Amino acid sequence: MEIIDLKTLKIEANKEIDNTADLKSLDDIDKKYLGKKGELTRILRSLQILPKEKRANMGKAANEVKNVLKQKIEIKRKEIGKDVIIADKERIDATRPGKAPIQGHLHILTQTRREVEEIFRSMGFEVAEGPEVENEWYNFDALNIPKNHPARDVWDTFWLKSAKERLLLRTHTSPVQIHYMETHKPPLRIIVPGNVFRHEATDQRHEFQLFQVEGLMVDKDISVPNFKAIVGEFFRRFFNKNMGFRLRPDFFPFTEPSFDIGMTCLICEGKGCQLCKGSGFLEVAGAGMVHPNVFKASGVDPKKWKGWAFGFGLDRLAMMKYKINDVRLFRSGDMRFLNQF
Ligand SMILES: [Zn+2]
Repeated sequence: MEIIDLKTLKIEANKEIDNTADLKSLDDIDKKYLGKKGELTRILRSLQILPKEKRANMGKAANEVKNVLKQKIEIKRKEIGKDVIIADKERIDATRPGKAPIQGHLHILTQTRREVEEIFRSMGFEVAEGPEVENEWYNFDALNIPKNHPARDVWDTFWLKSAKERLLLRTHTSPVQIHYMETHKPPLRIIVPGNVFRHEATDQRHEFQLFQVEGLMVDKDISVPNFKAIVGEFFRRFFNKNMGFRLRPDFFPFTEPSFDIGMTCLICEGKGCQLCKGSGFLEVAGAGMVHPNVFKASGVDPKKWKGWAFGFGLDRLAMMKYKINDVRLFRSGDMRFLNQF
C-alpha cells in the first residue's frame, strides 16, 4: 500500500460521488469506501503491518482522505435531498380538492335595509337618498328648528370646520324631505335610508352613528290612522307576525301632532328587560303629521296638502328582529358577531 494508491482511490471516489444523482447510489458509494468493509477502512486496518515511520504518514494521509470523502458525501446527500423536496413541492396533483376562497357577505344592517326597502316599495314608496353633510338650513331651519331654539340642543351635532357656511354631519334623515319636496310635486311616497350622526356618549342603546329610515307621505286626504295602518303593515311583514306597538304623544318641531312609536320588546317579549328599561316597549321611531312650516320651507302649499313622516332607527329594528342586545356590536367589526348573520 502506497500513498499513490490512496490518491487514486480519492480520485475514483470523487468521480463516483460527482456522477451520482440519487440517494440510493450515494449510500452505496458511502458503503463502498467508508463502510465497515469499505476500501478506506480496509486500508486503515492494514496499516498495522507497515513499518512504524511509514505507518504514521500513511495513517495521516488515509484519515485525511476519509474526512474529505465523508464531508463530500454529506454535502451531496443534502443537495439531492433538497432537490427531492423541491420536486415534491412542484408536483401538481390535479385531482386534489381545491381550497375554497373565503366568501364575504352583506352586513346585517345592509340586509335589514334591503328588506325594509322591499316592503315599502311593494306599498308604492320610492327610495330616495340625500347628502350626509348638510348645512344648517336643511338640517334645522327648514325643519322648523330656528336658530337659538332649545330644540336644537336635542340633536347633539358634529360640526365641520368649513370656511364659508357652517356645515354639519346630518343628525337625522329629515333634511332629505326638504330636498325631495323642492324637486318633486305631491302626491309623494318616499322612504329615505341613510346614516345619521349624533355627538353623544355610547351605551347599549346609543351610538354616535346610526342608520335611519325616514318615511314621508304627502297627499290630499291622509291622517294618523292612515299612518298607523301602513306602519302596522310594515311591522307585520318585517317581523312576520302581528306586532304590538303603541303611539305616544311626543314633541318634534317638524311634526304636529307628534308621537313616538314603541313596539313590544322582543328581547323580553314585553316582560321588561335591561334593553327596554323594564317597560316592555322599545322606542323604534319618531313620527307625526308634517308641520305646515316644513311644507312652506319646501315650496308645498300646506292648505292643499297633508302629510305624515316617520324616522325609524334601522339598528333598533335589526336588534329586535335578531335579538341583539347591544347596538355597539353592529360597528364593532367583530367577525364572531358578523358571521352569525
Ligand atoms: Zn325588553
